[in-house]
Amino acid sequence: MKYFDLHCDTITECYLKKAELFDNELHWSLKRAQAYNPLAQVFAIWIPDEYRGESAVRRFEDVYKTFIFQMTKNSDKISFCHNAAELKSALNKNKTAALLSIEGGAALGGKIENLDKAYNMGVRIMTLTWNGRCEIGDGVMVKHAKGLTEFGVEVVRRMEQLGMIVDVSHLSEKGFWNVAEVTSKPFIASHSNSQKICSHKRNLTDEQFIEIKKRGGIVGINLYRGFLRDGGKAFIKDVKNHIEHFLSLGGENVLALGGDLDGSDLPYDMKGVEDISKIYDELLKSFSEQIVNALFFDNAYRFFENNL
Ligand SMILES: [Zn+2]
Repeated sequence: MKYFDLHCDTITECYLKKAELFDNELHWSLKRAQAYNPLAQVFAIWIPDEYRGESAVRRFEDVYKTFIFQMTKNSDKISFCHNAAELKSALNKNKTAALLSIEGGAALGGKIENLDKAYNMGVRIMTLTWNGRCEIGDGVMVKHAKGLTEFGVEVVRRMEQLGMIVDVSHLSEKGFWNVAEVTSKPFIASHSNSQKICSHKRNLTDEQFIEIKKRGGIVGINLYRGFLRDGGKAFIKDVKNHIEHFLSLGGENVLALGGDLDGSDLPYDMKGVEDISKIYDELLKSFSEQIVNALFFDNAYRFFENNL
C-alpha cells in the first residue's frame, strides 16, 4: 500500500516525550509506518498558542534539533527531502521520504528574515496560524476572527517567492480568503475535513474546498474524532462520508491524507499508523482503487512533484 501523509505531530511528541522516531509508543513510528511502501510523511513542528515572539522562535529551533537528530540517526531508512528530485530519489531507494513543515507561523516571531532562515533549514510548508492569534493573522478559534495582518500578507508573498507552500488549515475564514486573494500559486489545507459532514470550524466549507481545487491545491483528510463526526463518536467508517462529499464537489484530484497522528484522538477503532491500512480496506468497499490510491498517495505526490 502506498501512503503519503501531509501532517503528523510525531516529531513534536518525540521532543516533548524524549521518544525515538524509529520505535515508540506514539501513534506514528518509523518501524510501524514502514509497513507501507512507498511512504512519505510531512513532519510538523507545532508551535502552541502560548509561545509568541522569541519564545516561539526558540521552541521551533528546539524541536528542529530533535528532527535533525532523528533524521541523522535513521538516515539508512529515512531521507529529509528539500525538493521534488530528492523526494523521487528517496522513494526510488525504498527509503521513507520526510518533508518538514511548521504548524503555526508564530515560529517566525514576527520577523520576515526568520522565514528565509526556516526555508534554508528545509521547511517547505507552513500552516500560517494555529488556533489562536499570531503575528501573521487569526486562527479559526479566535472570537470575531480577523484575517491576515499586514505582516501576514508579506509572509505569504515571500513564501511564494521562496517556494514554500502555504497551508491554510487552522486559519480563520477571513484569513483563508485573504490568502486566496494574495497568492497566485496553489495552496493546501494539510489536515482539514468537510464542514458539511462535521460542522466544526476547523473543517472547510464547500466554497473553501472548491477554491483550493480551482487553484490546484490539495486537502488532507484529518483523522481527529472531533473533526470526523459531530459529537466526536467517530470510527474509521466516518472517513468515508467526508471523501464522498469532497468527491461530489469534484475533488478526485484534490483529496489526500493529513491524519494528524500524535496531534489528535484517532477514531475509536484505530490505534496508530499500523491501522491506516484498515482505512484503505474500508474505502475500497465504496470507491474505486484509482480513487483510493489517489487519496492515499498519487495526488500528494503529484502536487509536490509540481510545486516543491
Ligand atoms: Zn493541527
